[in-house]
This record gives sequence, C-alpha cells and structure tokens, in this order.
Amino acid sequence: MDQVVNLFIEREHGLIKTLSNRTPVVETYLQNLTNDPQLGPIPSEDHYFLGRMDMGETVDRKDYLKEEEKGFQTRLLGGFQKLYKVQYQPTGFSWMVYADRTDFDREHYGFSYVRREFLGEVRCLVFDVAPKKDAGRGRFKGRIWVEDQGFNIVRLNGTYYPPLRNSYFFHMDSWRLNLIPGYWVPAYIYSEEGDFAAGAKNKIAFKAQTRIWGYDLKKGGKDDELTQIRVDSVKDDSPTAQDASPLQAERVWQQQAEDNVVERLTYAGLLAPEGDVDHILQTVVNNLEVTNNIDLPRPVRTRVLLTAPLETFSVGNTIVISRGLIDVLPDEASLAAVLAHELAHIVLGHNLGSQYAFNDRMLFSDDATYQNLGFKHIPEEEQAADKKALELLKNSPYAQKLDNVGLFLKALQARAGSLNALLTTHLGNPLAENGTVTRLSALSTQGPALDNNKLDQIAALPLGGRVKVNPWDDKAEIVKTAPVAITSARDKMPFEVTPFFPRLTRYGTATPAAAPATTASNSNGGN
Ligand SMILES: [Zn+2]
Repeated sequence: MDQVVNLFIEREHGLIKTLSNRTPVVETYLQNLTNDPQLGPIPSEDHYFLGRMDMGETVDRKDYLKEEEKGFQTRLLGGFQKLYKVQYQPTGFSWMVYADRTDFDREHYGFSYVRREFLGEVRCLVFDVAPKKDAGRGRFKGRIWVEDQGFNIVRLNGTYYPPLRNSYFFHMDSWRLNLIPGYWVPAYIYSEEGDFAAGAKNKIAFKAQTRIWGYDLKKGGKDDELTQIRVDSVKDDSPTAQDASPLQAERVWQQQAEDNVVERLTYAGLLAPEGDVDHILQTVVNNLEVTNNIDLPRPVRTRVLLTAPLETFSVGNTIVISRGLIDVLPDEASLAAVLAHELAHIVLGHNLGSQYAFNDRMLFSDDATYQNLGFKHIPEEEQAADKKALELLKNSPYAQKLDNVGLFLKALQARAGSLNALLTTHLGNPLAENGTVTRLSALSTQGPALDNNKLDQIAALPLGGRVKVNPWDDKAEIVKTAPVAITSARDKMPFEVTPFFPRLTRYGTATPAAAPATTASNSNGGN
C-alpha cells in the first residue's frame, strides 16, 4: 500500500500537468435552502456561475489565504465576478478538481488505507487523507478512491482543514471520469452545507452542483482574442446555376447567420455537437410539424445548450433548448410545449439574428459571448408565438396531454420566486419575469391543482436526471436510469440539485460519460 500511495501521488501530479493546457467550462449552480415542514430543505434563493477555468495558471497559496476578508458568496463561487470569464481561482467550487494543487505529497499529508470498494464497474482502493500537523491551513482532509489499474484518483470526498480565520471551507464530493486513455478528468462536484436539526445553528445552508466540460475546446481565453476563431466555414449550399431571387437571397442570408451562431456557440463550449438528444428533440418537432401541415423551405434543426438555466431560443431554423430545461420537463408533452413556442417563432417568420451573417460579428473572445449574442424577441412576438404554439399543440398528438404542461407551469410558478438564477436566461427570452411565469400562460390554469401529497403527481423533475454531457467532447446524451419509487413528497425535488453518483467505467469499455444517478427516483416519473 505504501507503493500505491507513491503511485497515486505521481499520477495526480501527472494529471495536473496533462490538464495544464486546458481551459474547460465550469458551471456552478447553487441553491440556498430553507426548511419546509412538509418538503424538508427547499431552495429559498439561488446563484449561478459560469466560467472558463484556465488549468495552467498556478496560484501562490499565500495569495488566496490573504483573501479571507472577501464575502462568503464570493469565496463560494471562486471569486469570479463576471459570467463566462476565463480564469482559474483556487477557492470556491472549482478548487476541488484536485486534492491539493501544489503540495499533494507525503511531506504535507498522511495516508491510511481503508478498504477496497467498487464505484460502478471500477474497483477502487480507498484511502483516508489528512494533512500533517504543520502542513498549513486549507489542506485537503477526507477520503479518496483510487482505481486499481492505473492508480488514478477517481473520487475525492471531504473538505479543507484547518479553516481560515473568519471563514470556512465547505464539504465537497468530487468525481472524475475516464474520458481519455490513462487519465481520469474532473467532471462533477457536489457540495452541501447546513443542518436543520433542532437546536442547530446554521449560518448558511445550501447545496450546489459544479459541472466541468469542454476540456477539448480550443483556448478561447484572453491570450487568444481573435486569432483562433475560424470564419471560413460558411457553406455555400446553393446548387443552382442561377442568381438567387430576392427571397432566396434573404433565406440564404438567414441560414448564413444561423450557421455562424451555431458554430460560434459550439466553439465557445456552450452548445453540444449534434447528437442523440437532437434526434429526440427533432422527433417531437416533426410530430408538431406533420400534424399541423407545416412545410418550411428548410428543415428545423435542434441543438442542446449545455448550461443549466431554463431557456430556449431560436436562430434561423435552429431551435436551441438548455440542458437544464430538458432535465426538469416531466414528459414529452411538456417538451413539445416549450419546443412549440420556438417552432411558432419560426413559422411566424420572427427571425432574429440575421445581423450575425456579417462575420465581423462573430469575432469576439469566448469571454464576451453573452455580450455579443442575444436572441430576445419583443413582447408582441412572444405573445404571438405563445398563441401560435397553443394552436400547434392542439392539433398535435400532445393535445390530450396538455394537463401535464399546465402542471409543469404551476410547479414552475410555485418555485419561480426563489429560483431567480435558474430562470435568468442569457441568450433567449425568459420563461418567467419578476417571479411570474409568462411562457405559455394560457396553459397555466390547465390540469389539476399542484398537490405535493399526491405521490404520483410529478409536475417537474430535479436537475440532472435527463441529459448527461461528456466533459471531454461536449456530446450530450439521454440518461437511462431505472425508475425508483417516490415514497414521500420530499422525493419529488422539483428544479432542485442533488448529489452526483455517476456509474464509473473505464475508457473504452462503455459510454464514457457517466450519469448522475441520484435523480433516478423521478426521471421516469411522468412518462
Ligand atoms: Zn419566444
């Protein structure tokens, strides 16, 4: 076991080195909790952070130890101030990608072997890790799981110790996936604090999910600015020998804008490449189109926005829907409803974004994506799209299931006041404004009343139960989980974050991206 310790220390340093030229996307979604007598801890407010982490930047430990006077929220989110910025901060949730970035060695830590244990298909050796007496503040303390072939750390669970003055470290459970030969890359971090036991003194209570993806992205950071951005891929799809008519020219122009935007968002790590999830989305869109005799000059495409906030938008004939929104929708009818709103925009010709056919508008650094792209319609177009969407739904195979959509909207309304960050969109129109759900409001009274006591009434799902993303290549796929019976109202957890429990597999033996399985209880609920 002594040799094993040497091996995993060496492998950890190897991983730090291997990933040092990477700038993955890191997303943290945090829910502050309050105790509800019936539902237990429920979100009272939420916070969202999205950034690019430069894993090559080393930070002097002394620097961050001085930052203890900074506010708790700032520390928690790693000191990131601006959304989608490329920087590495050693504090906050992005910290626990490594046990100890600078001093993971025998001089600073004691290791004791605990037992063997399987995580998914992978047999692991489990060690407890504690900082030595004079190792300094903010050292990792907890447990690590080391796979028994390459001796890579695959999971870390614990906190940092001793805490800093006037501050403290939260607890984290950090998971890695074997997405490239020989290395296990950090993918999911779950954190939770707070105690609602009688007499407990909580200053804070929260739960948070951190997801990391986009390891294979080109550096889109401050050093690159415009140099690596490709602008050479606008396709010339016109097979005719003739000049384009004015209408044709307009359509080609719109398609050019659409292609530019889709490519730029994919390049920035915000859009999954076309894949399995799109087939499902496109089937639903087709169901709406066929039953409504919609015949568009070009087929409607769909893409998955990789982020958690609930949003949809469309550019040209491409409908984009966020991972978070797909996660929480209880059934296909609800999915059809949110897609119908965007399809309605397309059918009504509410085309946004034709300015992006000018390639200069694609020339910005990844940091500035949200400042440079936007697809928000004016209120009149939003209302018209909702009205048209309702018409499309009523002619569709989903017409008999609109009660479920109504129920979802009610569940969303019930939580809208406390989930401001989840409902703040970054590219499209929001589903709710000032705590009131506005999207498809004509359906919001449809269906039965929301009833927490009805265990078979699944109005909305927790986050993370539907879509899994491969953190290396950003491919999205639908999670397959066995249904787990809900036994109390507390099991429903609509729109909530839960711990991660991915099924670990070795590279090449199965689908590499593992699914957070803890939401299995709900994921098949409404189907
Ligand atoms: Zn809209």
